[in-house]
Amino acid sequence: MTQHPSEPLPLRRLTVTAVRAVTPRMRRVTLGDPSLDGFALAGPDQQVKLFFPRPGRTEPVLPAPGPDGDAMRWYGAYAALPETERPWMRSYTLRAHDPAAGTVDVDFFLHAEGGDAGPATRWAASARPGDVLGMFGPSAAFAVPVDPGAGDWTLLYADACALPALATVVAALPPGRRALAYVQVPDRSEEQPLPTAGDLTVRRLRDGDSPAQAVRADRLPPGRPYAWLAGEASAVRGLRRHLVEERGVDRRSVHFTGYWRRRLTQDDAPTQEDLAEARERLSLG
Ligand SMILES: Cc1cc2nc3c(=O)[nH]c(=O)nc-3n(C[C@H](O)[C@H](O)[C@H](O)COP(=O)(O)OP(=O)(O)OC[C@H]3O[C@@H](n4cnc5c(N)ncnc54)[C@H](O)[C@@H]3O)c2cc1C
Repeated sequence: MTQHPSEPLPLRRLTVTAVRAVTPRMRRVTLGDPSLDGFALAGPDQQVKLFFPRPGRTEPVLPAPGPDGDAMRWYGAYAALPETERPWMRSYTLRAHDPAAGTVDVDFFLHAEGGDAGPATRWAASARPGDVLGMFGPSAAFAVPVDPGAGDWTLLYADACALPALATVVAALPPGRRALAYVQVPDRSEEQPLPTAGDLTVRRLRDGDSPAQAVRADRLPPGRPYAWLAGEASAVRGLRRHLVEERGVDRRSVHFTGYWRRRLTQDDAPTQEDLAEARERLSLG
């Protein structure tokens, strides 16, 4: 998990070129910049950090990367910016890349409205062509690669904000690969088609359902699964626990990420559970 010293930092300033509604609450924002020339997606589930401007600014204030390409030094300079200027940083997924147009798409789930919405959601709800944000990544130095063809079959879980990432994993399934996806969105209008070459079965969950209970109640395909789980942190934790402790799935075959925490923003400090999870992830190497 190290950035090669001679690599330039994957930091870009991107301009919105188009915005469209995928579903009532999923907003697709297309972003372009000449620095995307020659860019290529390394695989599915490509995660980035996006930087959103503070009120009164048309674009985020970001420190210039140092000549050594040191990501931690750059992050230190970012963290040292006065809070009134420091752009909000949030994690998102590249939903698509169009090399001919030199653009990437990010799908924003509008999880709340008005005063209850976080800065990323507020930005996406009013994004217009010409708006500017910052993007760090994707970077192999900060991501665990996803291998949807590992094991005998694939088990997937995503809630609404992880659906863009799940769609890229499903699209990368090898032809004929057996896969079972548990997809949790608020209602039917938020469901999306999931094109794939794999042999995919989708189980629909609604807000308030427990994914661990849904999987517990199911008869799973035979063989060793590769699992990819993303969504609200405690739901992901519960499902992972069920797979590892009750189903005997090898913990190294479970790729899991808490995408958000109830009542906490992405600026809030990690909880004890978050820290335990991070330690576990490191120990799995
Ligand atoms: C690796 C990774 C990839 C991600 N990819 C995407 C993506 O492609 N598209 C996408 O839409 N999201 C994605 N997310 C989730 C996104 O980063 C969070 O939802 C983030 O908190 C949104 O920022 P915000 O500024 O809107 O809200 P914040 O300021 O972080 O939080 C404000 C409030 O909203 C609540 N909240 C935050 N997210 C949700 C949610 N999803 N549902 C309900 N309540 C919520 C919080 O608990 C808090 O109370 C990803 C997260 C990770 C870790």
